[in-house]
Amino acid sequence: PTVLVTGGNGFIAQHVIDKLLAKKYKVISTARSEAKYAPLLKNFQKKYPDGTLTYEVVPEISVNDAFDEVLKKHPEITIVLHTASPASFDYDIPLEDAYLKPAVNGTLSILKGIKRYAPQVTNVVITSSIAAMMDGVSPSGGNITLTNDMWNPITWDKVETSMEAYSASKTYAERAARKFYEDEKPSYKLATVNPPMVVGPQVFDDLVPREMNSSNEMVSMVTKLPPSTEPQASFPFIPSIDVRDIAEFHVLAFEKEKLADDRIAVAASACVGQRILNILNDNFPELDGKICKGDYASADKLEEDMCPKFDFDSTVEKAGGYDFIPFENSVIDLFKQYLSKYS
Ligand code: NDP
Repeated sequence: PTVLVTGGNGFIAQHVIDKLLAKKYKVISTARSEAKYAPLLKNFQKKYPDGTLTYEVVPEISVNDAFDEVLKKHPEITIVLHTASPASFDYDIPLEDAYLKPAVNGTLSILKGIKRYAPQVTNVVITSSIAAMMDGVSPSGGNITLTNDMWNPITWDKVETSMEAYSASKTYAERAARKFYEDEKPSYKLATVNPPMVVGPQVFDDLVPREMNSSNEMVSMVTKLPPSTEPQASFPFIPSIDVRDIAEFHVLAFEKEKLADDRIAVAASACVGQRILNILNDNFPELDGKICKGDYASADKLEEDMCPKFDFDSTVEKAGGYDFIPFENSVIDLFKQYLSKYS
């Protein structure tokens, strides 16, 4: 089968493509420009000499019909994974243009395009977010249990910060997708994958950017904390998952019948600043004296008090069980790769 992956140069999408090529799917990716995709294409071709990976340029997903030409040109596409959506926090344009329009219009343009031009498509998977489920990110979340029927009640008129704009954009985009699916009853199955904080290495060591992607950057913020022996409660305090696991769930989302029209929320562990510091201080002697130690023993309690609990067992069951990569490995692999290039 041939799979279309939008936003193919993204952090998560690269791992999704890696999984797909390893499983011998043919992959067509989209990226905003040739320059954004050429180095990746070269690396994937080297890693999978017998694999089939091509790409198409889609410069802007906010515009209506953004994907029509790609869908018309490739009648062989039967599975679509829509991962493209603004996930950075450094835009200098109005929040609506930066987040809401690309998230919602991008989602609707792929769904409409498939309905119009690609009736052969059997499965569509949209990357939503835990941000579409959680009611804000607050450091007092320890007594909440997240389940995959929850919705973030945020409304656009209340949005002030980029983080709120991001959360609202993901909420509105997923709602729009589900409404389209219900109203239009297309012939394909629609699933969403709702990742929590996604952590881990890049697929290719030589393409590790100096500026990490947003979620890894949030994890690495702890390395900039001032020296202290106090418990370090810093953000992130939301559940997390390894990038390689969330990539696998994008594939399971269409491979497993029971997940094919589901809302797929999964998480591996809590994630709090002190835990990240402990992992770094335990495993990277070269960081000794350079990063904060905090209060080692406080990590369990901070996680208990501050991180929302989660119950996504029904999803894991539908997947036929799953062993998640421990958070410690995600952090070690991320920093090993990063420090070997930039220390
Ligand atoms: P990246 O920023 O690495 O990837 C985002 C991708 O979307 C890039 O390819 C980007 O292209 C593309 N994109 C964004 N805006 C536009 C636009 N207006 N027009 C065309 N392409 C666009 O982020 P992630 O890999 O982390 O995120 C991938 C998906 O996963 C997103 O939908 C995100 O919301 C979701 N997600 C991520 C989480 C995380 O912790 N990382 C958690 C939950 C959900 P370009 O690079 O050229 O800008």
